[in-house]
Amino acid sequence: MKTSNVTLLERFLQASGVSTDTRKIAPGNLFFALKGPNFNANQLAEEALSKGAAFAVIDDEAFAHIPNTLLVEDGLQALQDLARLYRQTLRIPVIGLTGSNGKTTTKELLFSVLSQKFHCFATTGNLNNHIGVPLSVLAIQANHEIAVIEMGANKQGDIEELVNIAQPTHGLITNIGKAHLEGFGGIEGIKKGKGELFDFLAQHEGTVFLPYDKNVVHDMHAERVFKSTIIANEALYTELVEAKPTVVYQTKDGLQVRSHLPGIYNFENIQMALAVGKHFGLTDEQCHEGIRSYIPTNHRSQYIQIGSNQVLMDAYNANPSSMAAAIQHFAETENNPKIVILGDMFELGDASAEEHAALGALIAQQGFDKVLLVGQHMQHALIHLPKAYYFPDKFGLHNWLQDHPIKNSYLLVKGSRGISLESVLPFLE
Ligand code: ATP
Ligand code: MG
Repeated sequence: MKTSNVTLLERFLQASGVSTDTRKIAPGNLFFALKGPNFNANQLAEEALSKGAAFAVIDDEAFAHIPNTLLVEDGLQALQDLARLYRQTLRIPVIGLTGSNGKTTTKELLFSVLSQKFHCFATTGNLNNHIGVPLSVLAIQANHEIAVIEMGANKQGDIEELVNIAQPTHGLITNIGKAHLEGFGGIEGIKKGKGELFDFLAQHEGTVFLPYDKNVVHDMHAERVFKSTIIANEALYTELVEAKPTVVYQTKDGLQVRSHLPGIYNFENIQMALAVGKHFGLTDEQCHEGIRSYIPTNHRSQYIQIGSNQVLMDAYNANPSSMAAAIQHFAETENNPKIVILGDMFELGDASAEEHAALGALIAQQGFDKVLLVGQHMQHALIHLPKAYYFPDKFGLHNWLQDHPIKNSYLLVKGSRGISLESVLPFLE
């Protein structure tokens, strides 16, 4: 017999949490056996139980004879349904955030700020998809006072699915740029897909935080009616010219606050975090302390000193808009010599050749001392960059760096996740 969602909720409330990975089972967990293209975790139900899981949720009857299994129609669907039901039992504000770039950074900033006053929950790492969002919601504890949930999407309907699970009371779209062009089919498609968060908030009397000067998001906002909108305009950007510039902003009282984040694009993320903090009743000082104390990690907008080189490591991901933002920022800094190591931007579909060529043109305008390009798609950038060094893959780059050591330089390293350009670090020592 199939297990009902109500029974699942009861089992979950008695459990010590949810797990989908037998390597990370904690005693008393509710284990969900998910299926993927190359695995069927139903086969791991027994192992999960022997490692201490209280129950294993399975969707293959062949394993239903195992004690303490809960048979459902579809494991993933059951996980999502459970998260949706559990969310309805929570009486706290949930801030949903999406956008093309800066979601995780903004999420971390919101967490840092809101934690100055509240016991705050935020998505761990980048768990922002159809599995990550339900897992995030199910990780919210009874004593959390507010939650921040990152939502990612690479096609229409993704955000709609996620908002119905997380049911945000508040929300924001960091920006609309060229990311996941392939799945969305162009900018209009991206606006529509990300707009599913706004649709939910408009329909459920939610509050929207709007960036100060982002026209596309403002246009999307204007197409819907919201109960409450807050414009993020708590601070003024302070222009900085120095070797290792991080965003410094000026408050309405004239105070200057320094963050650990480089690039004017991070000023927008900071603005959002300040506006959210203010809205939830934090003092100005609590908001600023949240910004000051956040130190980026995971190769997102991070300064790393390695040997005699200083690296602006941004290899966590890349798309045309975040590439342009990072390149322009790096070009403006007072560092010399300047070297860029850039890898392919994935998921651009038919626009890939054109976007890589446009990137080449942008780089050509900057006058960097050396340009090193990595990956098959980057070939298209070469037409504008006859002097660039080109490597079909990162191993070619590693070998070249061994033969041509770089010293006393400033480097920007950025590319899509799949190309993992952080691998150059040992070759820059
Ligand atoms: P993902 O889709 O991988 O979850 P994300 O939206 O969470 O990405 P982050 O991981 O926060 O984005 O940032 C990735 C990179 O995007 C940063 O290192 C930076 O280069 C760039 N970026 C961050 N904020 C902005 C912004 N507001 N506008 C443009 N680019 C940005
Ligand atoms: Mg992210």
